[in-house]
Amino acid sequence: MSTEQATAKKYKFKAEVKQLLDILVHSLYTSREIFLRELISNASDALDKLRFESTRGTEIADNDLPLEIKIDFDEKQKLITVTDTGIGMTKEELINNIGTIAKSGSAEFLKQLSENKTDANNIIGKFGVGFYSVFMVAEEVVIRTKSFKKDEPAVEWKSDGLGDFVISESDEKKQRGTIIEIHLKEDQKDFAEKYRLETIIKKHSNFISFPIYLGSEKINTIAALWREPKSQVKQEQYNEFYKFLTYDSTDPADIIHVSIDAPIQFNALLFIPQKNNDFFGYNREDYGLDLYVRRVLIQHKNKDLLPEYLGFVKGVVDSEDLPLNISRETLQENIVFNKIAQNITGQIYSYLLKKAKDEPEKYTEFWNEFGRYFKLGYSDFTNLEKFNQLLRFNSSNNTDAAGLTSLDEYVSRFKDDQKEIYYAFGTSKEAINQDPHLEIFKNKGLEVLYLYDPLDEFVLSTVRKYKEFEFKSVDNTDLKNLDKFKNLEEKKDKFEELSKDDNKQFDSLLSKIKTVLGDKIVDVKESQRLSGSPAILVNPDDSMSSTMQKILRMSNKDMGLQKKIFEINKDHKLIRNLIKVFKADPNDEYINNVVEELFESALLIDGSLTDPHTLVSRINQMLEKSSDWYTEIKKL
Ligand code: ADP
Ligand code: MG
Repeated sequence: MSTEQATAKKYKFKAEVKQLLDILVHSLYTSREIFLRELISNASDALDKLRFESTRGTEIADNDLPLEIKIDFDEKQKLITVTDTGIGMTKEELINNIGTIAKSGSAEFLKQLSENKTDANNIIGKFGVGFYSVFMVAEEVVIRTKSFKKDEPAVEWKSDGLGDFVISESDEKKQRGTIIEIHLKEDQKDFAEKYRLETIIKKHSNFISFPIYLGSEKINTIAALWREPKSQVKQEQYNEFYKFLTYDSTDPADIIHVSIDAPIQFNALLFIPQKNNDFFGYNREDYGLDLYVRRVLIQHKNKDLLPEYLGFVKGVVDSEDLPLNISRETLQENIVFNKIAQNITGQIYSYLLKKAKDEPEKYTEFWNEFGRYFKLGYSDFTNLEKFNQLLRFNSSNNTDAAGLTSLDEYVSRFKDDQKEIYYAFGTSKEAINQDPHLEIFKNKGLEVLYLYDPLDEFVLSTVRKYKEFEFKSVDNTDLKNLDKFKNLEEKKDKFEELSKDDNKQFDSLLSKIKTVLGDKIVDVKESQRLSGSPAILVNPDDSMSSTMQKILRMSNKDMGLQKKIFEINKDHKLIRNLIKVFKADPNDEYINNVVEELFESALLIDGSLTDPHTLVSRINQMLEKSSDWYTEIKKL
């Protein structure tokens, strides 16, 4: 009995892995060739890890082996092998890494696939399940691997990808690293062909930073593109590198290539994608820049080189001035590292500001794609001034809801002596246009920013000011501050001034309204801000705007409604009629009905009406009555 059989042990694939394999084996994918990209990428990771260990001074088995990847093939045997001299795996690592422990990504990957949002090929590598893609082409896979740790025995993993795999100790692998034998399915045997393999490697793996040999021939061009002088790099190379880095299939929208020599040396090659490819949405983990020190990859997706809100920026950073043996854990405390990080954020800001100025249409595209992430930068106080300059909002000055206005543009259109920037929140342009709070702003020709995203209001209330100008929500602007602005056209005097007596009656009516509504309101007042609506609810001075209150209520169900001031428009037909009714009989029930109705309608518009039932049944009663009158008048 050979030693192999003596140590062989069967393991079952973890349920999620099995499910994943079922899909990969049985589904028809357009580009099965990506299995090679995934295996080469794993080989490259293993080599990166080895190089990293070696720069830290760890003792390494077979230290003189060159760091490289080798692809061999045998058409007759339908066989491809991928060999690397990377860190390899111990028996335990092999069992854990491949098959028994499902990565956190596999569940998400399956979900995305089942929701059919995307083609497996584009995302498989992103979820940390890339290895399994080999079963799209293989009927059997054998891994032989030997760890870089001294005195670890070589191990073998063998599986047909169906239900289980077999692990055994095998002395066939003599030196450090991993070899993967891919026994192709009959209908996939064409992959074991030189030209085919060469094309695939060039297409997907050209920028791998270790030599890839196909047979004895080196296939990839290994250039650290970010270290080349800008003038020497062609657009096409940038695009290719970007696609290699991100798996994106379209060219990037922006390329930011930075070479700094003093006071700290570093190169950075940064990209902004055309589209927000963040399929995860909620997976905040998928961002970061690859950090190199003197061309040695120190960390994939380092998350401290960029603030999270710039996470849509992809790319690499490479510095001469960081120690090669720096540990990932202490990076954050390194002064040089932090300076580089600051500088990179600064570079992105400068780039975006220039783009906003020189190519406003392109900037709009950027904003529409990534604005909702960028906005989260409202808490980055060091960059606040630039951040504000990059914000965009719709405004009453824009003819349609898609139009965008910068704060600079808004300020340039200030009325004489204007000191505040006004904004309104609503679900659409139409909704905001009809908000009674806006009437006074329209009458005075004051521009108002239209916010459709609740986050916008958070941003403005946190940022508080642009230059010296405070942001003010239209529903809690102090009207005294608006007195200095003239009405565009004097109110068309549809209504005569009330007589002295009627004015008194109006005051009594206000008291009556206050009694009817009781403690549902803070106060009742004559409105100075309305022209088209009979009544409105306003927030007492210096309270939160209604949207902010709503947001807080969403997170804290117990928070009650904040009481407001109920303002009545004396110059409105309905109110004039109400004065007449009041004069005839101050206790007429009709007054109570109208007041309740006006109040609940105002709540509705304010977004604070919790139960619409009474409002609707009251409207129905009133409609019924008015239909009686209508049929009477029409003599029907
Ligand atoms: P990912 O590469 O995203 O982690 P994979 O499914 O491609 O996911 O690989 C799973 C794991 O198997 C890797 O994280 C690594 O630990 C291990 N592995 C795969 N290939 C190799 C290799 N050639 N050398 C060393 N370890 C490997
Ligand atoms: Mg992988």
